[in-house]
Amino acid sequence: MAAPWEDVLRDEPAIQEAASVAVDAALLEGVLMRTEGEPNASDVVNYAPFTLLPSAVPTVLFEQAYAVQQDFNLLVDAISQNKEFLEDTLASTIKVDDFTAQLFRIHVQVLEEGLAQSVFLGINRSDYMFDCGVDGTPALKQIEINTIAASFGGLTSRTAAVHGQVLKMLGKSKEASRLLPNNPSKGLALGIAKAWELYGSQSAVVMFLVEEVQRNIFDQRCVENELWNRNIRVIRKRFRDVFEKGSLDDAKRLYMDGQEVAVVYYREGYVPKNYDQQNWEARLLLERSRAVKCPDIATQLAGTKKVQQELSRPGTLERLLPGRAEAVTRIRATFAGLYSLDVGEEGDKIAAMAIADPDQFVLKPQREGGGNNLYGEELRQVLEKIRDSPERTSYILMDKIKPQPAINYLLRAHSPLQVSECISELGIFGVYVRQGKEMVMNKAAGHLLRTKAIEHADGGVAAGVAVLDTPYLV
Ligand code: ADP
Ligand code: MG
Repeated sequence: MAAPWEDVLRDEPAIQEAASVAVDAALLEGVLMRTEGEPNASDVVNYAPFTLLPSAVPTVLFEQAYAVQQDFNLLVDAISQNKEFLEDTLASTIKVDDFTAQLFRIHVQVLEEGLAQSVFLGINRSDYMFDCGVDGTPALKQIEINTIAASFGGLTSRTAAVHGQVLKMLGKSKEASRLLPNNPSKGLALGIAKAWELYGSQSAVVMFLVEEVQRNIFDQRCVENELWNRNIRVIRKRFRDVFEKGSLDDAKRLYMDGQEVAVVYYREGYVPKNYDQQNWEARLLLERSRAVKCPDIATQLAGTKKVQQELSRPGTLERLLPGRAEAVTRIRATFAGLYSLDVGEEGDKIAAMAIADPDQFVLKPQREGGGNNLYGEELRQVLEKIRDSPERTSYILMDKIKPQPAINYLLRAHSPLQVSECISELGIFGVYVRQGKEMVMNKAAGHLLRTKAIEHADGGVAAGVAVLDTPYLV
């Protein structure tokens, strides 16, 4: 699956020139991020890191990833409505993982009080790598599905233009014309707009719940602007603002500063450090409200690593998606080996297997945002330490996916241009809207390709490891 520009990769003067043009093109197209030094001001901005060249992606796997996205939307939605499944699946995890336990407590509390929300909006991103089998044929394998704050749907829509220009400069106009248009932020905004419309109050706003540190604001602005273009008002607030100024009326309508909120779109709230006591209270207030939460807390729980692992057990998908045998087959085809480390014989065997051959596996805690997983020798040491303790149930084990590396250049502000052996991760954005029991929208909304140098086992774009890329289908 080599890209048809191997010939130019070693032409250093041409690469240097293309890189400086690429950076300017990225700035002009809006592939932007605020700086680490001034994450809450836009006076000085950088380009978001990206590859100099697009990366080759096998057409069949790209199409397979799109084809299974609506199935994943249905699956996530089904899990979020299945109280027993979430309870059984997370029972062992919440005994040892405080963060998941706190989310789960809010989930149970809002169910006991009775859900005020009747319109549901899911925005997720299912991420894959191309596993290189023994015979060298790549296979699509899911890394995880993100059901909260899945990012880069905005910035990724701007990389194709940048990469097109680079290819043209390098004498590859025909290849440039084959890069696919892609705009997830529009698809996400259409989902938010649909949820807003079904909520049914013309004067209500959409609230983006944002982090204290807002380096990735331009990515969010892409979605925001799509909403403003449709005459839907957007406000940006933090948990702190909700704690101070949020309230519910008798009908559990949510108000911020006197404005009714129809949709809460979380770009925050997925890691423990996002919460202090006040923020948890704010989260509870939001979850209790009638407003459409994207995601509601049950859907956030549906995206945990523990749930992912349980889905791979024989029979689970059939139980969650009755009468949808084809969807089940499509979903299962993307699963890598996933293993429970719950206390008991099965977990003992799995732990021993991983300790004996740590390079074949990844050990994952219930965390999001990159940089949390354990590999190789570190995996072995940690697992040996906790193998006889219930603490091990806060992790799941997964087969390590081994893609075929390819050569590329990673462009990052203030870093020298350097050739790297790279691997890529493809994400497909999914959007769905449900009103009561009826699915009124279920779509794949676009894609994201992220690429990193092989020496980094883990970490996303925000973590400073992966960079934005554009797929070139081969
Ligand atoms: P997070 O929620 O932190 O994003 P992920 O499951 O996506 O957790 O893992 C983070 C990164 O670790 C991925 O982007 C990928 O680079 C790497 N990774 C995760 N699972 C595997 C795996 N099974 N095989 C190889 N690499 C993996
Ligand atoms: Mg991830």
